[in-house]
Amino acid sequence: MPVTRLAVLLGDPVAHSLSPLIHNTAFRELGIGAVYRALRTPAAALPSAVQGLRRPNVLGANLTIPHKEATLALLDVLDATARAVGAVNTVVSEQDGRVLTGYNTDVTGFLEPLQEVTLEGAAVVLGSGGAARAVAYALLVAFSLDRIWIAARRKERADAVVRDLSLLDAAGVLRSTGLAQAAAVIREAALVVNATPVGMAATAAEVPIEPHLLRGGQVVYDLIYNPRRTALLRHASAAGALPIGGLDMLVGQAAAAFRLWTGREMPRQVVHRVLRTADADPAQG
Ligand code: NAP
Repeated sequence: MPVTRLAVLLGDPVAHSLSPLIHNTAFRELGIGAVYRALRTPAAALPSAVQGLRRPNVLGANLTIPHKEATLALLDVLDATARAVGAVNTVVSEQDGRVLTGYNTDVTGFLEPLQEVTLEGAAVVLGSGGAARAVAYALLVAFSLDRIWIAARRKERADAVVRDLSLLDAAGVLRSTGLAQAAAVIREAALVVNATPVGMAATAAEVPIEPHLLRGGQVVYDLIYNPRRTALLRHASAAGALPIGGLDMLVGQAAAAFRLWTGREMPRQVVHRVLRTADADPAQG
């Protein structure tokens, strides 16, 4: 099968990413002549990398740390969700590369594992970056919570998330707090979401909050997928909380991007099988 089309991941770092494995498995399985490459892209190189998507053979791109917000200004069109969230994780190159459209598929990906979960009361989102924005937006539109706290180590960044989403927050449920002042809201929350990188492979022993704040009856959702079971999720299980890891979100946001690029459904069973094999082979992790 000749490879004629290209999709890329722009981020820094990208070496840990499972996205090439996910998308290349799906392209191969469906007989689509395309390849997905991870390109380490320092911040200074982002404008030229986005400009490089303006080619007829390019399907589009995913954006990861730290480019999800900076990419907004480099695109021609933003879909309503990406504009509301203020962050883009997927770009589609259309009309032979003349039009670049930005989407945020993290929102749908995040909600997938919560489809069967009932949430009432408050939620706390740890972090104030692109993923935290997508999570706050998803919680606002999909649940009727009394409070959604954004808890960030720099409170002014949490303030900015609340301010930027205020048009969608007619009931005034969004609130900001410093992470160091968030103990009481974390203890009371029905849902705690880790949208910081604390606990990723390089810091695998670390947790973003004091573990004793977790309790039975809570849902603890860690967006991190490497390792699959983070220290935070281990503490959540020990406290009797329901732990949810980031892998289903990863596949969910990838499937939504794949649909935008190809118009096809990602063969998820095959993708999950290959991801399990990658688990057994740490060199691919
Ligand atoms: P980002 O835009 O760089 O934001 C990271 C946030 O974490 C910022 O608010 C940052 O605070 C905070 N932070 C960083 N180090 C911290 C520390 N030591 N203590 C407390 N807060 C800290 O990154 P992102 O794109 O939002 O991604 C965040 C995490 O979500 C990453 O682990 C990423 O892999 C994961 N993620 C997973 C999926 C998935 O599909 N499963 C999708 C998206 C993201 P400052 O602003 O103060 O630096």
